[in-house]
Amino acid sequence: MKFSQFFIPTTKEKPKDAILPSHQYLIRGGFINQVSAGLYNFLPLGHIVLNKVKAIIKEELDRVNCNEVTLGFVTPAHMWEESGRLGKYGKELLKFKDRKNIEFVLGPTHEEMMVNLVKNRVKSYKNLPVNLYQINTKFRDEARPRFGILRGREFLMKDGYSFHSSEDDMIREFNLMQETYSKIFKKLGLDFRIVEADSGAIGGSGSKEFMVLADSGEDTIVICKSCEYAANIEAAKRVKQEAPTTLPEAKFSKFKTEGIITIEDLSEFFKVDKHFFIKAVIKKAIYDDRDELIVFFIRGSDELEEIKALNSIGANDLIDATQDDLKDAPVGYIGPIGLNSKFIIDEELRGESNLICGANEINYHLVGVDLNEHLKDAHYADLTIVAEGDKCTCCGGVLHYTKGIEVGHIFQLGTKYSEALDANFLDENGKSKPFIMGTYGIGVSRLLSALIEQNHDDKGCIWTKATTPFLVNIVVSNAKKEEELSIGIDLYENLKNKGVNVILDDRKERFGFKMGDFELIGFPYAIIIGKKIKDGFVEVIDRKTLEKQEVEIGNLDKILEIIE
Ligand code: ATP
Ligand code: MG
Repeated sequence: MKFSQFFIPTTKEKPKDAILPSHQYLIRGGFINQVSAGLYNFLPLGHIVLNKVKAIIKEELDRVNCNEVTLGFVTPAHMWEESGRLGKYGKELLKFKDRKNIEFVLGPTHEEMMVNLVKNRVKSYKNLPVNLYQINTKFRDEARPRFGILRGREFLMKDGYSFHSSEDDMIREFNLMQETYSKIFKKLGLDFRIVEADSGAIGGSGSKEFMVLADSGEDTIVICKSCEYAANIEAAKRVKQEAPTTLPEAKFSKFKTEGIITIEDLSEFFKVDKHFFIKAVIKKAIYDDRDELIVFFIRGSDELEEIKALNSIGANDLIDATQDDLKDAPVGYIGPIGLNSKFIIDEELRGESNLICGANEINYHLVGVDLNEHLKDAHYADLTIVAEGDKCTCCGGVLHYTKGIEVGHIFQLGTKYSEALDANFLDENGKSKPFIMGTYGIGVSRLLSALIEQNHDDKGCIWTKATTPFLVNIVVSNAKKEEELSIGIDLYENLKNKGVNVILDDRKERFGFKMGDFELIGFPYAIIIGKKIKDGFVEVIDRKTLEKQEVEIGNLDKILEIIE
């Protein structure tokens, strides 16, 4: 490929809202352009990278017998009605009506479509398992599309769905997908971690995310420095916290605490560590048919993890309670003993004694509270955020935070959709049963951002060898000079004949401009045909290190050795 014949509209201008390097460089390097909020075009360079990423994904999936399909982007709303998601999915779901007034949805994910495809086509356990996938457009009307194609509204996803006759077989496939995804991300040249993820109301350890480590990542990951443990903050576990001090026994009694409501002030007032207080966090839970105030009780030294809280009650959403919602509540003095509204207590408080909590009466707290005695049968659940410095449940090591970009997600789904959509097979005994499913996603277009977030410098992109649009960029310093251009063309032809993916910058532009483009676009190597040719040399530049090496003109083997 020659630059002079290729559409690469690079620009010096930084897009206004581009905070992240990947967003800035992908636009400035002529890989993508923005059409509207969260909507992007892929230009020739971006298109090539996208196809390379897709090819690696496809190669590994096909190797383990996944079947590629292409489903419609527009999905009938009645399928979403049947699965119960039409109302629940929220504003991310883009709905519209056709000329016959029939409602449709732009697919944000394709469980409904895929289950409907398999339903009545796979009838017997003999035809299971099946794993079907597609690499296709998705649309989610994200509240805050940002960071370029990292969080777009229209984006490309690989979504796969497997169907099984037994739980064991689904878990086998889930493990196979974990292994396959690891191979894919390794091949792409990414530094990533597999983390335990939130499994929603389904629970269990059946959900894992693939996180590309990057400071700019939107997800906080909890990792253990001493072992392999890694989890999304929403799903992280820790060893139960030990009491920082021992406390003198207090008798269960009511204590006047006039005007003292924050944990800090109470801790100061009682001269007792925050660990021994029960803190109330009041939220409004949104269900299909109602809203309800719910109080979450955690230690005074902890913070509420909202996803864990949401999972503990199985609601659609949790939002902050308004002042109006709380007008009758003794705010600052709310405790679990004698409380009339629904409440959940953090699992780490189970069986604890000698605690202090609100008395549900303005200006009073209770001391000497023993949960074993007072609230043995209350609803307990894991509700707290794991903090840095907490201990790992696998090895006792110290837990730390790091940031990641979610590029993949695998999920043991079970029968949620097959039951809702009445998708069944006949087992060995001729009995009808719902399919047991797994789902597996990869953010294909997001991967371009993730690759650049992890591989860039202050000049531009640095593509990994597996994903770069071209491996080598031959830069003819002055394309108006016959000799330089002809050496460049010779080298270009020779490298092409050796199977090297090469582009020739034969544009009649200034040398500095062309080098700027090389650094911005981020091909792994440049070969400069310039001043040095009078001594019989070209220069090879490594984009990552920007180191230069002189190589004799015509020494193709040496060049091949460097770019190997
Ligand atoms: P996120 O938490 O980042 O919003 P998600 O958990 O909602 O993502 P999934 O439903 O698990 O996303 O979708 C599978 C994959 O699709 C994700 O792992 C991610 O890589 C990608 N993805 C999701 N939303 C977007 C988006 N708005 N733009 C680009 N890629 C996305
Ligand atoms: Mg996800």
